[in-house]
Amino acid sequence: MRFDILTIFPGFFAGVFDHGVVRRAQANSLIQIQVHDLRAFAHDWHRTVDDRPFGGGEGMVLKPEPLAEALESLGVPRKAADMKREPAPPATKVVLLSAQGRPFTQAMARNFATAERIVLLCGRYEGIDERINQLYCDIELSIGDYVLSGGELAAAVVIDATMRNLPGVLGNEASREYESFGVPDAELAANASGVPRSQHGAGGLLDYPHYTRPAEFGGVEVPEVLLSGDHSQIRRWRREQQLRKTLQNRPDLLERAVLTDEDRKVLGRIRSNFE
Ligand code: SAM
Repeated sequence: MRFDILTIFPGFFAGVFDHGVVRRAQANSLIQIQVHDLRAFAHDWHRTVDDRPFGGGEGMVLKPEPLAEALESLGVPRKAADMKREPAPPATKVVLLSAQGRPFTQAMARNFATAERIVLLCGRYEGIDERINQLYCDIELSIGDYVLSGGELAAAVVIDATMRNLPGVLGNEASREYESFGVPDAELAANASGVPRSQHGAGGLLDYPHYTRPAEFGGVEVPEVLLSGDHSQIRRWRREQQLRKTLQNRPDLLERAVLTDEDRKVLGRIRSNFE
C-alpha cells in the first residue's frame, strides 16, 4: 500500500516513520510512504503557496494551483465542477486533513486499509482553498475535536492507524483483533484461524487494562484472577473491565457497541455500584 503526503513542510516527517511497526512495514515493502513538497509545484520566484482570503479576515489560505498540480502529478483526476461523475479510481483515496472533517475512526482505518493508495493533503494557516476539496478530495477527515497548526501530525496518525490493519504488518495478527474498537466475537469467530482463549473481540468497546511483572508494584497487586490460570474466569474479568472502562471514559461508545445479554447484566451491576 502506498501513502502520498502533500505538505509545505516535508522535513516535518523526518524520523516520524522510522520507528517500530511503521519502520518494519516499510522495510518489508508492505507500505511505501512518499512525501511531496508543495512548494515544488509553485512557479513564481518566491515559490508562493498561500494568499490572502477572499472576503477578508484572519490568516492566509493555501492557493489552489500548486495543490492541483501536485495532485495531478500523482495521477489524481479533477472532478467535474458539478461533481456528477465517477472520478478517481476507487483504489486511490484522496484525504483532506481538516478540523472540519468527519471524525477518523478505527472502522475508517480498517476501510482505508483496503485501498491501494491514500493521498493525504496537509493544510496549514487557515486551511486550503475549498475548491481543492470539491474538485479532488474523496473525504475530509478530522482526527479529533481540536485545532492543530497543520495537517502533518494528522496525516501521520491516519497512516499509522491504517497500516496496522494491513495483513502481515503486526508481528501478532491477533493483537489487532482484540484491541480497543475491535470487531465483535461473532465476526472473529467467522474468520477464526485460532480460538480466542482468554480474550473478547472488543465489539466497539475499549480494551481492558493490561499488567505485567512484577505481580506487586507500588503497593498495588495485579488482580488475582490474572494469576489464576483459569481462562474462562480471565475472559469474564476482562470483559467486565472493558465494559467498566468504556462506561467510565467513553459512555458514548456503548450506544453503538455489540453487547450480549450477559454484557447488559454486567453493565447494570456496574452502574448500580456507581450510584
Ligand atoms: N481554520 C481552520 C478551522 O478553524 O477549521 C483551522 C486551520 S488549522 C490552523 C491548519 C490545518 O491543520 C488545517 O487546514 C488542517 O489540515 C490541519 N488540522 C487542524 N486541526 C485538525 C484536525 N483536528 N484534524 C485534522 N487536521 C487538522
